[in-house]
Amino acid sequence: MDNSLLLEVASVYGTPTYVYDSAKIKEQYDRLNNAFGTKKVKLHYAMKALNNSNILKLIHSFGAGVDAVSIEEIHLAIRAGFESSQIMYTPNCVAFSEIKDAVSLGVYINIDNLSILEKFGNEYGNSVPCCIRINPHIMAGGNSNISVGHIDSKFGISIHQVRHIERIMKHHNIRVEGLHMHTGSDIIDADVFLRGAELLYEAASHFPDLIFMDFGSGFKVGYREGDIVTDVESIGQKIAGSFEKFCTSYGRELELWFEPGKYIVSEAGVFLVEVNVVKQTTSTVFAGVNSGQNHLIRPMFYNSYHRIENISNPNGEKKLYSVVGYICESDTLGYDRLLNEVREGDILAIYNAGAYGFSMSNQYNARLRPAEVLIHEGAYHLIRKREELEDLYRNEVQLDIF
Ligand SMILES: *Cc1c(COP(=O)(O)O)cnc(C)c1O
Repeated sequence: MDNSLLLEVASVYGTPTYVYDSAKIKEQYDRLNNAFGTKKVKLHYAMKALNNSNILKLIHSFGAGVDAVSIEEIHLAIRAGFESSQIMYTPNCVAFSEIKDAVSLGVYINIDNLSILEKFGNEYGNSVPCCIRINPHIMAGGNSNISVGHIDSKFGISIHQVRHIERIMKHHNIRVEGLHMHTGSDIIDADVFLRGAELLYEAASHFPDLIFMDFGSGFKVGYREGDIVTDVESIGQKIAGSFEKFCTSYGRELELWFEPGKYIVSEAGVFLVEVNVVKQTTSTVFAGVNSGQNHLIRPMFYNSYHRIENISNPNGEKKLYSVVGYICESDTLGYDRLLNEVREGDILAIYNAGAYGFSMSNQYNARLRPAEVLIHEGAYHLIRKREELEDLYRNEVQLDIF
């Protein structure tokens, strides 16, 4: 996104504001969609990354489905125009009543617990098909917070319990149409994906009714210049090849599914903040901005790196800053960054803010959530208003007893 356009957005809508670029979302979607050669894939966008309904409508227009992790997300997806048949519901530790609600909405259910599978069988027998989330126990992904396939993970049914799954499945006559794995985020290595895939292929012999396999997500995007990113073409080629072989031995052509979140929207988002104060201490120069971990929690939560640029002073002399927020809590957005000289009032652009930025924002310190703007075909559109004071107490109940 062009800096002058970003500055215009900041002056029209104020800051802090999330800005998304529809062209970049489309580019990422197309790239992944085409990475598997002649093998057609089905992409279900993991909407927890960014769920503004305009973004959902845009991604729906590409022909994608969505992956939802809560009944509320399912409702948002339906509201944005997705058919229930395009929605995969992958819950973890939810009440069985929520799964029943999802079934009644007609979405596809991904089951990740033996007790839920039993309840599902009791309730529906073979009348509602399902998918099973397998935990292949491979260590994948950037760090232990975002790696969800390892032995201690709460996600999925262990690959070592396939015989148990099979017994429940046969007893209740459950139609298992899909096997799923999602081992975590930030996978760079095609071999990690392939190892997981091989384990699912082996497990598949226990499931005669398969229609698809879903290999989840975890495609890594670039955060720093020169970062190693997932080579989706290389992964695509390898997986397509191994999947073809598997289908031949399984005896039927199956569909190949993925559910990318970050890969689709991360790089399409920029978070614009304004510098309130420049503060020189004995050891550091801080650039203190009008936002913080309440709006972008990833640096504090995952130790994630977001590139930052001073777009107001692109030719200023480079100096070292720690960019910090205004929250009364550990609140660093970027340590020791070389930025063009920062002056109070400058606008900083924080990159890779499309995924898990707004969707993880909160009102801590009674701060209002930011606005969201979409740039589409050269024009910018407000897609979520900045919150107002009233949003802080809308659901409070006033007692008259004091
Ligand atoms: C979060 C999640 C994803 C998306 O992960 P990304 O790293 O954002 O691509 C996919 N599938 C499931 C089940 C998830 O929970």
